[in-house]
Amino acid sequence: MDWIPTVTGRCRPEELGKTLVHEHLLVGYPGWQMDKIAPKFKRDEALARGTDRLQELRDYGVATFLDPCPMDLGRDVEFMAEVSQRSGVQIVCTTGVYKENEGLTYVFGALPVEEITEIYVKELTEGIDDTGIRAGLIKVATGAPEVSAYERKVLTAAGRAAAQVGCPVITHTDDARCGDEQIEILTAQGVPAHRILVGHSDGRNDHDYHRGLAEAGSYVGFDRFGIETLQPDSERIKSVLAMVQAGFTRSICLSHDSICASWLGRPIFNGSIVLQPEQIPFWSPTHIFENVLPKLRGEGVSESDIDTIFVENPRRYFEGQVSPLSS
Ligand SMILES: [Zn+2]
Repeated sequence: MDWIPTVTGRCRPEELGKTLVHEHLLVGYPGWQMDKIAPKFKRDEALARGTDRLQELRDYGVATFLDPCPMDLGRDVEFMAEVSQRSGVQIVCTTGVYKENEGLTYVFGALPVEEITEIYVKELTEGIDDTGIRAGLIKVATGAPEVSAYERKVLTAAGRAAAQVGCPVITHTDDARCGDEQIEILTAQGVPAHRILVGHSDGRNDHDYHRGLAEAGSYVGFDRFGIETLQPDSERIKSVLAMVQAGFTRSICLSHDSICASWLGRPIFNGSIVLQPEQIPFWSPTHIFENVLPKLRGEGVSESDIDTIFVENPRRYFEGQVSPLSS
């Protein structure tokens, strides 16, 4: 990929710089409009909050924020563009849909794979609605313990579109399961394994699973730092250290899956993720820089390793020329 579309233009892979690969500016679970007793969404406040957070990230040297909000989770690329312009941080957005049990499944459930592929290609090459903003990659998502028929269908479409356009794929997994199946489905459609970032692999501290994904040639996302209701960060740190010590530093990406603002004006329990702020005090997009990197450095992770994880790996993932396994 010579040029990566951003929500405000485009950049070359080497211009990504320090990158957080999985964070969200604005999210709304399907049906958020139905909560008529929640406080009303205030766009100006959300824009100000998103801008503040991204400016804080810029102070940590972050140049790019990858927001893999699927189409059915309240994706608003004009909101992203405004925050990017105000904060000076580049944002890359995605096309694609969420997992079956929390997504909007009716339309894609009815459409054939060929037409879903065509929709993805349109958002990647022409743009999203009339905004002129192009998606830079495709988001796919699966639940657990298995990949549903609906999820398999949209992953197949995503694989075809990614192979056609030559863009990467970023994934959501539940409980760090089915990442290997995601790789199988996508590579069967012609996506090289090194264009796949298997997200939320930190849902379990299972080194064999992590290593298997990396050995298949894909990137492994330890990208929910701070969501300690799902897994304590101490376990995530152990997982990351095991990968670094096993020689897989070139295969891992770290992020938080943080959410700056929500269409729904109050936190609710949606079944898979607890969003009560007091239970997850460290869930912010600066948490890794403030609290996690000092611990990793204390365990012997070098500045050069940290540079590989936050700068080199995202660049290589978007360039798509070589596998992290080749050195
Ligand atoms: Zn996410």
